[in-house]
Amino acid sequence: MNDKTLVKINDILTAKREMSVEADLVVLVTGMVPRADNSVASLFKLPKGRDRFFNEIHMKLRPVETVIDGITICGACQGPKNIMESVNSALSAAAKSFSYVSKGELELEPIIAKIEKDLCTWCGACAEACPFNAIKMVKDEKKEIAAINNSICKGCGMCLPVCPTDAINLIAYSNREIESMIDALAGE
Ligand code: SF4
Ligand code: SF4
Repeated sequence: MNDKTLVKINDILTAKREMSVEADLVVLVTGMVPRADNSVASLFKLPKGRDRFFNEIHMKLRPVETVIDGITICGACQGPKNIMESVNSALSAAAKSFSYVSKGELELEPIIAKIEKDLCTWCGACAEACPFNAIKMVKDEKKEIAAINNSICKGCGMCLPVCPTDAINLIAYSNREIESMIDALAGE
């Protein structure tokens, strides 16, 4: 039609009909997919969505933060973005990261897991179960035991039930404290 290029589109998502659009320039782009290499995700235990892009905590309220404190994400690792969107999210992630270090101190979760050194026989089950990669093996005076990184632990409690020697407690929610609460409730 004249010297214009006419592009025919089969709109299956919204109008569900065939449309024609006049275009000055047509640029064909293949769909953007996340990279197959999963090493960064498994190193930081970062959650991914069903589309295999990294997940932020909330698309609108916390768009560059992840569930791992101190780790921010931006750009096309979250999903297909153009240059302007990528630059904006990078600026936002940089500002968020700066807010972590500018305070000079870190607020920790008050309720976190604690290892009873005497009971731990280092089987590694808790480290396997921890979704935040907060547990590592350390050498104590006599043996190898599990150690929890207090700045990473979220107090989710996933490591507690897998311990075969009952060596892990949540601060303020130890077995004795829970049993006392149950007793008090039952007593009433
Ligand atoms: S309480 Fe949760 S985050 Fe903390 S060490 Fe256990 S599994 Fe990891
Ligand atoms: S599961 Fe229990 S025994 Fe095994 S490493 Fe963890 S704390 Fe130690």
